[in-house]
Amino acid sequence: MANKVKKRIILRKKRRVQIIALSALLIGSITVVSIGLKNRDGDNIIDKNGENNNQYYNSESNNVDYGNNNSKDEKSKEELQKQQEQEELMRKRREEMLLANKENVLPSNYVPEDLKVVKCIQFVNLYTSHENQLRAEAADALEVMITQARKEGLTFYGASGYRSYEAQTGIYKSNLQTYGYEHTNKYVAKPGTSEHQTGLALDITNKAGIKDGLIEEFAHSKEGEWIAHNCYKYGFVVRYPKDKENITGYQYEPWHIRYVGKEASEDMYNNNQCLEEYLGVATTEHGN
Ligand SMILES: [Zn+2]
Repeated sequence: MANKVKKRIILRKKRRVQIIALSALLIGSITVVSIGLKNRDGDNIIDKNGENNNQYYNSESNNVDYGNNNSKDEKSKEELQKQQEQEELMRKRREEMLLANKENVLPSNYVPEDLKVVKCIQFVNLYTSHENQLRAEAADALEVMITQARKEGLTFYGASGYRSYEAQTGIYKSNLQTYGYEHTNKYVAKPGTSEHQTGLALDITNKAGIKDGLIEEFAHSKEGEWIAHNCYKYGFVVRYPKDKENITGYQYEPWHIRYVGKEASEDMYNNNQCLEEYLGVATTEHGN
């Protein structure tokens, strides 16, 4: 019995040793795992710091070494964005604005739908009877302008508003016969290229102009000066300015005003731009 008891005690001791050993092993493993976790966390923290630090230093050193490149990149990005915005603006303007010039020819059957007889000024020297018309918006803006001019003691006369393709053809042909190609090409628009066909242009003059016709001297009259500096307030521009002849393709015409709307006329007046420049289609290939 005593031996049996001894054996049991020995077995129990063995089991205890085994349990202790297992426990030790288990504790050891947990410690290793936790040390591992700590290390990992620690590494991560170090890495994070390291990364952050690296980023910090990198960006610092970039600023020092490549600072100009970075700001250049940013600048060119900004410039590119500005350029894209500008192009988009021009595209929108071209979409909204009817342009008739030597490159942008109107179809022979183009007739504005909302033509209206202009009653606020007297028309003189008309080629054809329907040239006392403008598109409604332009006619209304003209009335506001003329009312103000009258308040300031100025009297204007209209020489030509809307002109049909057929009428322009007649004018071009008769000028060609009388004055020859060079003169005609300089002063008279070919059919389809005349702004008068848009119904948005008007040749405006003063009392002297009834007798003298449309001549450059108008620019130096008080009416001509008033037009040059005030018509933009009502949505009009002097369409063929003196210093833009090689862009517009036409000689200076201080009497020819074009309705473009107030936003555009103010922009063009303030930036000294002709319509081609405002629409981003200016070329200087029209030198006569
Ligand atoms: Zn004209």
